[in-house]
Amino acid sequence: MNAHDENNRAAWLDGPSSKCSVLPEPAGPAWRLVLMGAPGVGKGTQAVLLGRHLGACHLSTGDVFRAAKNQSDSNRSPAMTAALAFMRRGELVPDATVWELVRERVGCLQCQGGFVLDGFPRTLAQAISLRLLLESKRLPLHAVLNFELPVAEIVSRLSGRRTCERCKSVFHVSAQPPQNEGLCDHCDGRLYQREDDHSESIAVRLETYERSTAPLIHYYERLGLLTPMVARGSPEEIVQRTIAALETRRNAQFSDLDLRTVSIEP
Ligand code: AMP
Repeated sequence: MNAHDENNRAAWLDGPSSKCSVLPEPAGPAWRLVLMGAPGVGKGTQAVLLGRHLGACHLSTGDVFRAAKNQSDSNRSPAMTAALAFMRRGELVPDATVWELVRERVGCLQCQGGFVLDGFPRTLAQAISLRLLLESKRLPLHAVLNFELPVAEIVSRLSGRRTCERCKSVFHVSAQPPQNEGLCDHCDGRLYQREDDHSESIAVRLETYERSTAPLIHYYERLGLLTPMVARGSPEEIVQRTIAALETRRNAQFSDLDLRTVSIEP
């Protein structure tokens, strides 16, 4: 799969009544991954790159909410309208709403190319629901990647982030400024600051992350799925490091399997 025929994720973004125009072609055995990390560590960028490299579909719950924001009020369910208000304040959307949205998109979790879940699960309840659903479909997770960075670096990344309203390219006011202030280098679109990147929302999001999402780290650690990754370096460096870690993991799982096979032989 190349950048031109990338899956448009219609079934994920619009719901099960839509069909994706191009299904991912697995670049090998399918990967089913969860990406974790505080807001601002760059996990969205990593999810896109990993999706491309592994031929897996990038499934972001935040993207579903942002797509719903662009719909007219009459096309939105009352639950979705309420969800968008939580999002605007930087708070988590209630578990029941998020789970409804994921459950009705279960076809995406069964995609032949595998998946890279980004921004879900975010609470223990969501993680348990996901585990039960995947077990019932016999689709075990392969790894949970946890991208790590110090808090001060996260705050500086988020407050300086600017996004192109047209092509969604991301810039940073000091680390990666556009050539013309306020305008995208790629398409001349207007750059804006995401509502939830304003300083009041950043504080709420980081506090929410600590309270609700950090306990997931222990949950996945106990399940033997946690793979910590340092989120420093260029996006391509990080993705290459991540793929190497995944391969090491898969090889270790195979050799574990060999050892177990040997030990049960008479
Ligand atoms: P993200 O793009 O993943 O940072 O998500 C943006 C916002 O969408 C979050 O700050 C939440 O308000 C909401 N959101 C996305 N995914 C979830 C989730 N799994 N649980 C609760 N709220 C979510």
